[in-house]
Amino acid sequence: MQKIREFHRQSVQDKETFWAREAQRIHWETPFTQVLDYSRPPFARWFVGGRTNLCYNAVDRWLDTQADQPALIWVSTEVDQEITYTRADLAREVNAAAAILQSLGVVQGDRVLIYLPMIPQAAFFMLACARIGAIHSVVFGGFAAHNLAQRIDDAQPKVIVSTDAGARGGRPIAYKPLLDQAIQQAAHVPEHVVLVDRGLVPMTLTAGRDLDYATLRARHLDVRVPVVWLESNTPSYVLYTSGTTGNPKGVQRDVGGYAVALCASMEYIFGGKPGDVYFSSSDVGWVVGHSYVVYGPLLNGQTTVMYEGTPIRPDAAILWRIVETYGVNALFSAPTAIRVLKKHDPALLRRHDLSSLERIYLAGEPLDELTGQWLSEALGKPVIDNYWQTETGWPILSAQPGVEEVPVRFGSPTAPVYGYDVRVVNEATGQDCGPNQKGVVAVEPPLPPGAMATIWRNDERFVKTYFQSFPGRLTYSTSDWGLVDDDGYWYILGRTDDVINVAGHRLGTREIEESVNTHPAVAESAVVGVADPIKGQQAVAFAVLRDPAVLDAADARDRLEREIKQVIEQRNGAVARPSRILFVNNLPKTRSGKVLRRAIVALCEGRDPGDLTTIEDPGALDQIRSVL
Ligand code: AMP
Repeated sequence: MQKIREFHRQSVQDKETFWAREAQRIHWETPFTQVLDYSRPPFARWFVGGRTNLCYNAVDRWLDTQADQPALIWVSTEVDQEITYTRADLAREVNAAAAILQSLGVVQGDRVLIYLPMIPQAAFFMLACARIGAIHSVVFGGFAAHNLAQRIDDAQPKVIVSTDAGARGGRPIAYKPLLDQAIQQAAHVPEHVVLVDRGLVPMTLTAGRDLDYATLRARHLDVRVPVVWLESNTPSYVLYTSGTTGNPKGVQRDVGGYAVALCASMEYIFGGKPGDVYFSSSDVGWVVGHSYVVYGPLLNGQTTVMYEGTPIRPDAAILWRIVETYGVNALFSAPTAIRVLKKHDPALLRRHDLSSLERIYLAGEPLDELTGQWLSEALGKPVIDNYWQTETGWPILSAQPGVEEVPVRFGSPTAPVYGYDVRVVNEATGQDCGPNQKGVVAVEPPLPPGAMATIWRNDERFVKTYFQSFPGRLTYSTSDWGLVDDDGYWYILGRTDDVINVAGHRLGTREIEESVNTHPAVAESAVVGVADPIKGQQAVAFAVLRDPAVLDAADARDRLEREIKQVIEQRNGAVARPSRILFVNNLPKTRSGKVLRRAIVALCEGRDPGDLTTIEDPGALDQIRSVL
């Protein structure tokens, strides 16, 4: 790993020189005057004074050389449609979307909330916001009314863009009723809602507020909207992510740093060059969808494939069919998707010509050794595990074939990526750990370009959440355990907090508990993440009832379980639905009242619950054992 190490050393020892060079990858309308302003730790400002625009760099900049080449390919196996947009088509659609937003009074700094499935309009409106300096906040379509209402109140969007429905497994999933409920629940009132009518389910429009996208598009097609040149540190978007409290955190990203970081990552990490085809099967509602469905590939002059559908429909060869049809060079997916494929006929992996495919990248959750190895052997292609978070925006740990090809070790996301001064820190002493010692994966600030600038409208929470975990040290905590082996390979060993990861979806157990507790029969609850062979983890809920006697009635258990699951689905969406709801008389707690989650998880996974010296009532654990 000599080259990777040397490249990394330069990037952290001489940040200014390193990033000033990388910044030349993008167009600056006005050059920056300072590479890094770190006068107010831990807040980092990159490329100070420089003016640029994400939409210009992703779309307009490539029009001279790539106007007729595919920029965005949309494949939907849900509605059986495939559309290729050239860079010129993309420019036309993005300009129309920008003109629509402007006609609704959206100006620089206003927020636009995008609640859409994987349809091209999601990308059009994201880029349209970027073009005029509006701040987009994309909300994952799988989230339900309560989640959406929280995000509406925090981001306070002037306009919301949504649709009648998404689809999953060939069946429509209505979006509009959830959106209406969310707007009703929220204190903030958006001025307008633009609706993409896919004709999947009937929807009622609220007069004066709701507007039809197709009508507006026809009116604004062929309008050219001038690019608004933004100082590099202007907010570009807010993307909410779960934490340990019920309130989601709005991860705020800048403009210039993000453009530079993503563009560089396309080459160094993903081995891409202009003209290459990149396919990330993630959803635009997640960070991977932002960085590697929309911005990254387009900024680097690559074609991006956007996919609406599952990895197993019409059959488990669909990802490989897309690779063959569109000549995909790099595929980015999640370990869960591959674990699902593993259950299907291996012959499906050989049905298509995959000669264009150079590498496969998997991220978002731990990639177990067996799955990584299985895929790599079955396809005969390198499989690269990369580790990162919504907060960082791009990989922290990864193999970097654009810097140097090194052998990967399954179970390890290889090594620190240039720009990230990554450490393993002992949480009690605040000291760096030695080889093979488990500690918390941390990053010495300043965080590199493209990483989060702050929490939306909450600088204090940013510092408190991320930079106050270690005694005597202002270091960014990822809240993941990790270690480095003797050869310098890194391993991620799970979360240090109460965040769980179900099929790559990051969920705060606190948010689910709050929903369980809204059921009138429930007094309190504990939700934990339990190992699952396909999804990585699954949520399991333990509820204490106000009156345990209600369980005596026939079918009471099933009915309550059903009702509680329904509440969770309505408030947090189907992704958050626990696999089981179990009823107990009390929860195992410490004498100071903290729920002993680790002990509960251990019992659920059939392991020893470990140190129980602080437990208030050992009988509570016996109950957990017996209901399991
Ligand atoms: P998210 O912000 O939703 O992308 O979730 C980030 C979290 O997912 C990380 O903090 C890790 O806990 C987990 N994660 C992401 N990628 C990996 C990986 N390659 N290996 C292990 N855990 C991962």
